[in-house]
Amino acid sequence: MSYPQIHLKRGKAESLRRYHPWVFSGAIHSLPRNMEEGQLVEVFDDEGRYLATGHWQIGSIAVRVLTFRQQDITRDFWLRRIRQAYLVRQTLGLIRPDNNAYRLVHGEGDRLPGLVVDMYADTAVVQAHSVGMHLERQTIAEVLCEVTGVHNIYYKSETTLPFKADLHQQNGFLIGGAPGLETVATENGLRFNIDWLRGQKTGFFVDQRDNRSLVEHYSRGRRVLNMFCYTGGFSVYALRGDAACVHSVDSSAKAVELVNANVALNFPSDPRHEAFCEDAFKFLEHIPEGKDAYDLIILDPPAFAKHKDALRNALKGYTRLNAVAFQKIAPGGILFTFSCSQAVNKEQFRLAVFTAAAMSGRHVRILHQLHQPADHPVNIYHPEGEYLKGLVLQVE
Ligand code: SAH
Repeated sequence: MSYPQIHLKRGKAESLRRYHPWVFSGAIHSLPRNMEEGQLVEVFDDEGRYLATGHWQIGSIAVRVLTFRQQDITRDFWLRRIRQAYLVRQTLGLIRPDNNAYRLVHGEGDRLPGLVVDMYADTAVVQAHSVGMHLERQTIAEVLCEVTGVHNIYYKSETTLPFKADLHQQNGFLIGGAPGLETVATENGLRFNIDWLRGQKTGFFVDQRDNRSLVEHYSRGRRVLNMFCYTGGFSVYALRGDAACVHSVDSSAKAVELVNANVALNFPSDPRHEAFCEDAFKFLEHIPEGKDAYDLIILDPPAFAKHKDALRNALKGYTRLNAVAFQKIAPGGILFTFSCSQAVNKEQFRLAVFTAAAMSGRHVRILHQLHQPADHPVNIYHPEGEYLKGLVLQVE
């Protein structure tokens, strides 16, 4: 099979030779007329040497590379890539009877740019971020069933596909979806209701799994405050870790319903837990100091900076938020603080938290430096894939 050919400008092939999986539109010298968004293309340098094959799309990232070896992109190609991703999760020990929630495909990290797949019990939730992946959705769905043995494939790309591509895609099942299907998934033996229909992202934040385990480890006897709790992942782990009490806070009423339901699923009528529907900054203003102060606080806010231009305000936001926690946390308390903004790097985040700590004047030790888990791998040639960072701090 031969695909339409794109030729790069002189001197623009270097990043592809270093296996970076994107071609920016500014690097393109020529492309055929009448290209359809999402179609497969082959990329060549200015001297006609083959570089890569990928999906073409209108926008600043013009090509998302699927392979650097000239080949046909057939059903077998998808099968090999998805099987490889599955093998990695098996190697990681994530596919177990007591753990059936995990990320199976993490875009560039799994050499499938534009594709995200999260697994929840007998359902895979698929998100396409590129038109190319959208066009392949049915093949991908079939291959997912073949590789993993699940029976339901839910496609949730309404908000992740480029708006300008005018695809008018609606969320829905590509395969299965019969009434009564299992919507509870298990993570490290804890059970969670997964609402892929209405929930954020694919319904659950699987990327905090390892960090939740660390919260469990530190929770014994502590008064825990879980800010921006969403489905309450951290809260449920803290309860299992024998926390003295756990307070969950989110400004969304739906999130408060979700956290209460997830706590009930694991620790029915546990008096140690209470959830509050309130703005985080308002709530923090009124939290107790002194002997009733919280001694484990989790700050896991939504991405404050979705784009580079919002960076300055985002950093201020992180500083402001963390400053209150440093001010109010009990002596010897432990602060888990996160940023999931891809636009904020590790050093910038650390500087924001450092500034907040200095404002409180307290002595602070960094105990752990956290990041996304291994089922959200970073392609070594694509450092942009690193997004989640966190610090665990002991505040004297
Ligand atoms: N910690 C969660 C994920 C957090 S997602 C987990 O482990 O799953 C971010 C959450 O912050 C969302 O549920 C959103 O409703 C909530 N949120 C956004 N702005 C907020 C604010 N100003 N105050 C409180 N919650 C807020």
